[in-house]
Amino acid sequence: MTIEHVLLLAGTLEARKLAGDIAARIPALRITASFAGAVSDLPDLGVPTRVGGFGGAEGLAAYLRSKQISLVIDATHPFAAQMSRNAADAALAAGIDLVRLERPAWAPGPGDHWLPAGSVEEAVSLLPAGARAFLAIGRKDIGLFAGRGDIYGLARMIEPPGHALPAHWDVVLERPARSQDAEKALLSDHSMTHVVAKNSGGTRSHAKIAAARSLGLPVIMIERPQLPPARTAGNIVEILEVLAERI
Ligand code: NAP
Repeated sequence: MTIEHVLLLAGTLEARKLAGDIAARIPALRITASFAGAVSDLPDLGVPTRVGGFGGAEGLAAYLRSKQISLVIDATHPFAAQMSRNAADAALAAGIDLVRLERPAWAPGPGDHWLPAGSVEEAVSLLPAGARAFLAIGRKDIGLFAGRGDIYGLARMIEPPGHALPAHWDVVLERPARSQDAEKALLSDHSMTHVVAKNSGGTRSHAKIAAARSLGLPVIMIERPQLPPARTAGNIVEILEVLAERI
């Protein structure tokens, strides 16, 4: 089967790399990338790109049909569960294939002190009164912590929060630091006692986990949401192999 048009659901570093690799290695392939538009400084992927929701699984299925898409690559973040569910449903409805890029989750190593949380709500409940918590969970779920006026929160996110947070908290509008030393300095300067993180996997946001380990801080690690069954690939090379199989 010849692939004519691939939809790449983006929003991750892998999606950015994948767009470049596909364009460079398989120039015959038509690729359209898609962003939710959750952040204002979207990267240029070097391929035709659309921005904004599709209108649920039905809207996406209609989009797939109208653009004659023959394969969906779901390279969204592991916590973008709604989009992944919609993508699986829409691909099924449109009768086309889907492959999901699932980067391996992080696992605790020697020196790590992780407290697993099955959901963001559970992470909120695991913080003891008086904790000083580094909340590295992004803007979407930060509102769930807003009722914890009995802790100090240092919340990091790219865009400003959509919810009011306790007045004594601080917000850092930044992407994750790449270096462990920078994360360590941030945690030490604010006398953090806990780190709250999503188990995103990958290297980009792991420095805070390594920094917590080196400072002996507990990490409340939010486990990934369940996703529907799908063909998966663990890395970009495997996605390129899937494409090679089909052309
Ligand atoms: P989500 O809860 O799974 O999706 C909410 C809605 O946003 C979807 O139903 C869809 O709207 C739209 N959407 C999401 N990703 C899209 C995409 N790539 N293209 C077009 N529409 C998209 O997603 P989220 O957690 O808000 O994440 C939004 C974006 O940020 C994702 O693309 C994800 O890769 C990226 N991101 C998320 C996280 C995180 O922690 N959640 C971290 C880093 C990056 P419709 O139903 O209208 O189609």
